[in-house]
This record gives sequence, structure tokens and C-alpha cells, in this order.
Amino acid sequence: FNVPEPINEPVKSYAPGSRERVELQAAIAEARGKVVDIPMFIGSDEVRTGKKIRLSPPHDHQHLLGYFHEGDSSHVEQAIQSALGAKYAWENMQWEQRAAIFLKAAELIAGPYRYKINAATMLGQSKNVFQAEIDAACETADFLRFNVKYMTEIYSQQPSKNDPGVWNRLEQRPLEGFVFALTPFNFTAIAANLPAAPAMMGNTVVWKPAYTQVYSANIIMEVFRLAGLPDGVINLIYVDGPIAGEVVFQHPDFAGIHFTGSTAVFQTIWETIGSNIRRYKTYPRVVGETGGKDFVIAHKSANPKEVATALARGAFEFQGQKCSAASRAYIPSNSWEQVKGYLLADLAGMKMGGTEDFTNFVNAVIDERAFDKIMAYIEEAKNSEGVQVLAGGTYDKSKGYFIAPTVLLVEDPMYKTMCEEIFGPVLTIYVYHSEHFEEALELVDQTSSYGLTGAIFSRDRYAIELATQKLRHAAGNFYVNDKPTGAVVGQQPFGGSRASGTNDKAGSMINLLRWVSPRTIKETF
Ligand code: GLU
Repeated sequence: FNVPEPINEPVKSYAPGSRERVELQAAIAEARGKVVDIPMFIGSDEVRTGKKIRLSPPHDHQHLLGYFHEGDSSHVEQAIQSALGAKYAWENMQWEQRAAIFLKAAELIAGPYRYKINAATMLGQSKNVFQAEIDAACETADFLRFNVKYMTEIYSQQPSKNDPGVWNRLEQRPLEGFVFALTPFNFTAIAANLPAAPAMMGNTVVWKPAYTQVYSANIIMEVFRLAGLPDGVINLIYVDGPIAGEVVFQHPDFAGIHFTGSTAVFQTIWETIGSNIRRYKTYPRVVGETGGKDFVIAHKSANPKEVATALARGAFEFQGQKCSAASRAYIPSNSWEQVKGYLLADLAGMKMGGTEDFTNFVNAVIDERAFDKIMAYIEEAKNSEGVQVLAGGTYDKSKGYFIAPTVLLVEDPMYKTMCEEIFGPVLTIYVYHSEHFEEALELVDQTSSYGLTGAIFSRDRYAIELATQKLRHAAGNFYVNDKPTGAVVGQQPFGGSRASGTNDKAGSMINLLRWVSPRTIKETF
């Protein structure tokens, strides 16, 4: 099939004086200057319930960005009916027409909407300019463009053999029913991809974003509509999670969930689906990317400066609010003093503040609840024996939810913050005896129940080989001499196993295959 060959959207630098910087600053000023009123989108209706929830930047919580209208269970039911109503026409549309809509959406995101979606992600989710650019502009466009390519690969898969007088074919049907997309705050691109991927394959969707991402979700929806997405294909609702779940998971036409969020919520969803299994017309597809407790292990041969840089960026970009964030590190005793020196110097150079000032590296965490939870870990660490606060440990929520990048050094490799996902700017380090590398690998593997990302730093090929073998199931995205974050669509398909998810690799053919249910047709002449 001749579809445009996808390339990764080039990342803009927003250097001082550049045109793109001026345009982005203008988009930020424009967004800050107005108060938006965001409806739900159900079918062709913009639904305003009057139950308004306030939106403000996490780094400037007194500033009002706008409101969104919250719905209740009746809106969930309406959204499901709308999805089911739009289904027949959508799944019978030529796949090229569906593909064209999403390719057009990618062009809009990378082109005329680039600054608007970046500004919304910077203001609504407190991402700095670089983090917004690689997420909202680039990764969103990448997901859409690469998935169109994978879609054609799926449609071209056919049985390879026909007996004489027989024609065998495979029809990649969409699922029978509607798909529920439950999306997180931490990546605008993930929030866009979770409804888009099943829709691309001919499904219709009910999309419920995190309340803390509604501000940018609204713009993604605007782009989909502008690109020509028919009414009812993606229905965007703002309803409390458990209320939405109550309606969705009891519905006989529930056909699948595309989820990114916490392990606890996903496990509850899985149990709910299990207990309702007899209600459904078909076994639902359950696809989820959940938590992580991602590691960096350095071998004694590693370059200390490279290790420190990976830790600083891997742990503190976007305030550590990535499932992939480096949150536990195992550093050999021979190079610890050097790693520490470089790391603390890196941290000293990280400015903290609002996203409007492009020189700030660290911004606020997403909301007060996250702030309180992260702070509790830090306070407990301060009062624990055998735990040293090497950097940070301070916080201030008077203007925004700011927590300084915090580094803990622990004597016990099983200390709480080495095991539990914090989802904030907290890195815990354990120094192991440099001659006990194999035992350290064992520790990495056994410490956490997650299996999302991890990195080995070494200049010794035997050590790399050993780590690659011993940590086979400890990470679904494994990095050699690089930080464990920043997977790129089309290059490092993303996802992990264990408690980290179903590992259906976002932005890959593996993921898209979950949104079809093939029919084999044998025709005898
Ligand atoms: N794909 C992102 C990365 O590689 C992480 C996604 C997530 O946090 O869910 O950093």
C-alpha cells in the first residue's frame, strides 16, 4: 500500500530569537489571556451540564484557564449509544478514508496547531517547553503517522496459500461493540493515541481523559473534528472514573479498554471486567500500560558522567511524572563519589519555576493530591534511619505545586522508595560493592513487582550481556548506556510486563492488532 512513509516529527529547539519561540510565546499569552468553557463532545452535540470544574496551571494555581463541564452516568450511556450509532458507517468506510483523517490530524498537530497544543500542555500540565514539544507536538504526530503505516501492514496480511479452486482471505474486522479509552495526564500524545488507535482500525470510542488533562484533550478533539472525524466516532466525556466504569463495564456492547494509568486502577478494572464477563457479547480486549519502578544500574566500568546525566534527566524531566522515570539507581562503590559529584552539579544547574519562563527545567507536579503524596514520602525518608537526603527535600505550594528534585541515598536496598512508585521528582540511590555486580543485578530484578523500563551503563561487553540476560523480564524497554525514558514511536515500541501492563507496545502493529478481530473467509469456486 502506498501510504506516506512516516518519519519522526523533527523536534524544534525554540532557541532565543527563533520564530517558533515567538509563536509559542504568543500562543501561551493568548491562552493565559482568556477563560475557556469546555463542553463534552457526544455525537454531534457539545454538552454543557453547568456543573463546571475549574482548570488552572499546576505551577500557578490561582490563575484561571477555564472550566469544563462534568457529566454523570447518563452522559456515559449517551456516549455509548452515540458510539454504537456511528459504528456501522465508520467500520464500512474505506480504510483509506479513515487513514486520511488521522494523517490530516497529524499535519494539523505538527503544523497550525503545534503552538496551541504545546502551550496547552505547558499551561495545563506544567511541562517545560522541550517536554511539551517532544510529547504534544512530536509524539502525537508520530503516533498517528506510524499507526497508519502499521494499519496497512495489518490489512495486507493474508493467508499465503490457496488450494486449487479455493480463495482464502482474512478480513480484519473491528471489534463488535465500543472501545473505552481511559487516558492519563502525563502525556498529551498518549491521551490522543488511546482513542485514535482503535478508531483508526474501524472502532468507535468513548474517551474519558484524566481531569488534569482536559485542557489539552479539548484541543486534540478540536483537531480530530477539524480533520474530518465523523460525529460519534470518538465521544469525549468528563465523568468521574468509578461512575463511568459502572456504566461501561456492565454494558453488553463493551468490547475493549485502552488504558494508561495506575496499576491499582487497572487491576480493579480487570477484576470488574472479569466479574461481568457473562454480560458481554464478546471477550473484551484489555490493553493497559500501568506503573513502573524503573532502574538504572551502573557497572564499575561505566562512565560516571554519563551515568549522572542519565539520572538527572531520567529522574527529573517532567518532575519524574513518567511511567518510565528513573526512580531507583544502583551505583558501584568505585565510582560513587564521581557520580555523586556530577549529579549534584547537574541538579544545581536545574532552575525551577513556571513553564512560561523557558529557562526553567523543573516545573510543578500535577495537583495537590500528587504534591501531598510525594511530600509524605520525602518527610518519611527524612525521619528514617539509614536514609540520607543528598539533594532537594524542599517543597512549596503557595503559588504552584513545586517540589525540588530530591535524591535519597539508602543503606537498605529494599527501603520503601526503592520499591514503590512515587510518580514524582524523587530518585533513590543504593551504592553496591563494585565487585558484586551479579548480586546487584539480582537485587534489581527482585526489588520491584514492575517491569517497565531500565538501563545498564557499562563499557564492558560481558557486563552488558549479563545484565541483558538477568534482567530479561525486569524491563519491557531496556536501555544500554542511555536513560530509561524518551522512547520514540517507530524506534523503541513502548511497554512493559509484570505489574506494568499488558505490554501491547504503544505505537506498534502489536497494539493495533488488539483492535481487530479477524474473520477468515474461504471461498470455493
Ligand atoms: N513513553 C514514555 C517514555 O518513554 C513514557 C510513557 C509513560 O509515562 O506512560 O518516556
